[in-house]
Amino acid sequence: MLKMKYFKKIPYGHQTIDKTDIDSVISALSSDWLTQGPKVREFEDDLARIVTAKYCVAVSSGTAALHLACLAAGIGIGDEVIVPTLSFVASANCALYVGAIPVLCDVDPDNLTIDVEKAEKKITKRTKAIIGVDFAGQSANWEKLRELAQKYKLILIDDAAQSIGSKHKNKPIGSWADLTAFSFHPVKTITTGEGGAVVTNNKNYYEQIVKLRHHGIEKNSARETWQYDVNELGYNFRLTDIQAALGISQLKRLGRFISKRRSLWKRYAQNLKEVEGLKLPKEAVGNFSAWHIYPIQLDPGFIKKGRNAVFRELTQAGIGVQVHYKPIHLLSLYRKLGYKKGDFPVAEKYFENTITIPLYPSLLRKDQDYIIRKVKESLK
Ligand SMILES: *Cc1c(COP(=O)(O)O)cnc(C)c1O
Repeated sequence: MLKMKYFKKIPYGHQTIDKTDIDSVISALSSDWLTQGPKVREFEDDLARIVTAKYCVAVSSGTAALHLACLAAGIGIGDEVIVPTLSFVASANCALYVGAIPVLCDVDPDNLTIDVEKAEKKITKRTKAIIGVDFAGQSANWEKLRELAQKYKLILIDDAAQSIGSKHKNKPIGSWADLTAFSFHPVKTITTGEGGAVVTNNKNYYEQIVKLRHHGIEKNSARETWQYDVNELGYNFRLTDIQAALGISQLKRLGRFISKRRSLWKRYAQNLKEVEGLKLPKEAVGNFSAWHIYPIQLDPGFIKKGRNAVFRELTQAGIGVQVHYKPIHLLSLYRKLGYKKGDFPVAEKYFENTITIPLYPSLLRKDQDYIIRKVKESLK
């Protein structure tokens, strides 16, 4: 029993909340607004400035952001949307929400983002958009994706749930795709509890998303408040001012959060680089990654006991580990759409051999040392 008391579990990811966050939320609670109000506007302005986008709409989750991005892009029934299979399921579900067909694609073995050459082969007359995912914080190959989008007249959507603050070729994530969706779930780089945002430079997209976030109510359609008009099906995807207040104070520390994540990433690299049979997350040339997670890959040729045994050993040592991700095509919903094991060998091989070990700004050095020691022990 006594032992249990001192047994500490290190999570794989954790939010960083301090007094300024708490004060910010308290001030929102004592203001006149609770739901969408002036704080949401302020948060949107701050975020747009940081990611160098013209327009920003805060919404209730990253998933809602992807859903509205698809609607604004005019994606609808029968359209095809190319999505990497190695991602969180929401990256593909958003296509299904709007009646479109998610066309899954394999990833590049080096930076684990969509394989651009394979994506090109999947383009048909019905392809309307490509959703790139910035996996673990690493930008997709946006320069190449832009070329592809121009060549085939496709819309680019960036699922940037994991990459706020990341850069590709010195330009921030949020400035590459036609529409970029962020998430502020607690495991992400900044949090609002639940929350998300879409940024764009396109005024029409922006106005459409503002409208659909709030039931499809036409702005300024009413001479009297009761006289509003709705000509399209919208949603209640609003963020609250309470959440936005948290977002505002979190955004102020985005730079610090990222440098902390990057220094932990470097420290893992320095201490684990000599371990045989281990592949560490490496920054692709031209990328600056905010490192949302730290997924390591085990070479099954070297590590005979296998990923699952290592996973169990680390869990038993009190280390919160995860697997990011079971590829989308292996989920039952997507198997029902016709996908099967063997469809995307790169993502499948990665999935079978990966473990995410803890990475978040408040991870203590001594805890990181402990994790490093346990990983080495387990892989010996
Ligand atoms: C977290 C995440 C989402 C979903 O964001 P929510 O805010 O949880 O809805 C979508 N895509 C990716 C890649 C994510 O990591």
